Amino acid sequence: MTMPAQHSADELDRLPLSPAGRRFLERRVFGHFIDGAMVPSASGETLTVLEPSSGRPFATVAAGDAEDVNRAVDAAQRAFDDGRWRNLDAQEKERRLRRLSALLDQNRPTLRDLDMADGGVIRNFTDFFIQFGIDAVDYYAGWPTKLHGSTPAAPPDCVVMEVREPIGVVASITPWNGPSASASGIAAALACGNSVIMKPAEQTPLTALLVAELCLEAGIPPGVVNVVQGVGEKAGAALVEHPGVSAINFTGSVETGRRIQAAAAPRLKRLCMELGGKSPQIVFNDANLDEAATVAAGAVWGHSGQVCTAGTRVLVERGIHDEFVAELVSRSRALKIGTAFSPDTQMGPLISSEQLDRVSAYVAIGKAEGAHVALGGARVGDGGYFHQPTIFTGVDNRMRIAREEIFGPVMAVIPFDTEEEAIAIANDSEFGLSAGVWTRDLSRGHRMTQALRAGTVWVNTYQRVNAAVPYGGFKQSGYGRNLGAVSLDSYTQLKSVWMKIR
Ligand code: ADP
Repeated sequence: MTMPAQHSADELDRLPLSPAGRRFLERRVFGHFIDGAMVPSASGETLTVLEPSSGRPFATVAAGDAEDVNRAVDAAQRAFDDGRWRNLDAQEKERRLRRLSALLDQNRPTLRDLDMADGGVIRNFTDFFIQFGIDAVDYYAGWPTKLHGSTPAAPPDCVVMEVREPIGVVASITPWNGPSASASGIAAALACGNSVIMKPAEQTPLTALLVAELCLEAGIPPGVVNVVQGVGEKAGAALVEHPGVSAINFTGSVETGRRIQAAAAPRLKRLCMELGGKSPQIVFNDANLDEAATVAAGAVWGHSGQVCTAGTRVLVERGIHDEFVAELVSRSRALKIGTAFSPDTQMGPLISSEQLDRVSAYVAIGKAEGAHVALGGARVGDGGYFHQPTIFTGVDNRMRIAREEIFGPVMAVIPFDTEEEAIAIANDSEFGLSAGVWTRDLSRGHRMTQALRAGTVWVNTYQRVNAAVPYGGFKQSGYGRNLGAVSLDSYTQLKSVWMKIR
C-alpha cells in the first residue's frame, strides 16, 4: 500500500485498544485484499471509517468500483481454475480450516477492538459474534472429508455417478451489524472448495481484512479469499453484476435484497438471502414472566436493536399485560447506555447518524400513530449515535411501528386475547425471519410452532443460534439457509456422470 496516512496518532490514543488491535489499526489506511495482498483502489478513491461511539474518523479504507471488482474476480477465478484450493486433499483442507479457527481464537482481542471501533459493538455482543464465527469455521472444517456424491440406480450397461462439485466464485455481501462473524459467511463456501469475495459493509470494512489475512496465514492459498471494499451501489453492485461471480450470499435489508435479485437475474446467479425481520415474541398468561421479561427485553435492546432477529413486536396476553409491561420497563429503565469500549455498557451506540435519524423518525411516527411511549423515546447525548431503549404500548399491528423494520431499540407491545388472535397478529407481517413463544403449556407450544410462519421459532428462549442449525427466513425475510448441513447445497452443484461399460 502506498497511500498516504491521513490520521494522527491521537485518534487511536482515545480508544482503549489491546496491543494487537492497536498494531492492526496503526496501519490506518486499509485497502482491498486481492490475490493475497492488501491493495488500494484502482481509482485511488477512499472512504473514511467513523467510530460510532464518538462519530469521529479513525481510519481510511479503499473505495472500490467495477475495476477493483474485476481484479478480485480475476484472482478468485484463477485460484478456482488452477485448483490450488478446490483440488487440495480434503483432509488437508480440514486441517487448514481448523488452523483458521485457531487463529481467529488467538486474534480475539483484535476482532473485539475492530468490532467496537467501526461497528460500535459492545463487549458481550462482540464476544458472541466472534464465538459464532469461530464455531462456524469449526463446524464447516469437518465437512470436506464428508462431502460426497452417490451412485444412483442406473441401466445395467452403464455406471452412473452423481458427483458433488464446488460452484466457482462466491460473493459474500454482509451488513455492518456483526462484522466479526464474517468468517461464518464464507466457511461453508470454502469447505466446499469455492473461491470467495467478501464485500463488507462500508461502515465496518476492517474485520474482513483481518479474516482474509488469517485465511492466508492458515494456509488457504492466495486468491481463494478476497475482499472488495466500497459502497453498495458501486462495489456491491459491480460484484453482483460480474459474470465471473456464480453465487451470492447476501445479508441485509429487503430493499437491497430485491435490488440484488433483479441485478443477478440476467446471469441466473444462485442467491441466498437473509433479509430483515419484525419478529414477534408471544407471551402467554402461563409463561415464566420473570424469564420472559428478561429475555424479551434483551432481544430488543441487544446491539441496540440492530439485529435481524430482534423481537421487536412483543405480543402479550391481556391478563398479564400491565404486569408484564411493568416488568419490561423496570428491566429496561436502568440499562447503562455508553460507548462500546466501556466494559459496563449495556447498550451501545447505533451505527451511524443516518440510523439514529431513522430511529428518531420512527419514534415520531409511533407517537403520531397514537401509540403510548411507556419508556424512552429520545436520543441520548450530543456526540455518538445513542438512543434510549423505547417501549411503545397500545400498539395496533397495523401501525407502521409494528410493520416496518426499524433496526433500533424500539419495542412495540401489542395485547391479545386468544391463541388464535396471537397467531393471526404474529403472522400478519411481510417478514418471517423468527418468532418466540413463552408458555408452560407443552401442547400450546407445539401448536404455535406449527402455526407460526417463520424460519426459526424459539419456545421459552430466544435468539439461540448454532453453526449446526439452519438459519434463514420465510416470506420477505429471504430464502436459502445459512449454517447447518443444508448450506452446503448452496455452494455445490451435482454433476451426473454416465459411463457405458457394456
Ligand atoms: P443496511 O443493512 O445498512 O440497511 P444494506 O442492506 O443496503 O444496508 O447493506 C448490506 C450490504 O449490502 C452492505 O455491504 C452494502 O454495501 C451492500 N449493498 C448495498 N446496496 C447494494 C447493491 N445495490 N448491490 C450490492 N450490494 C449492495
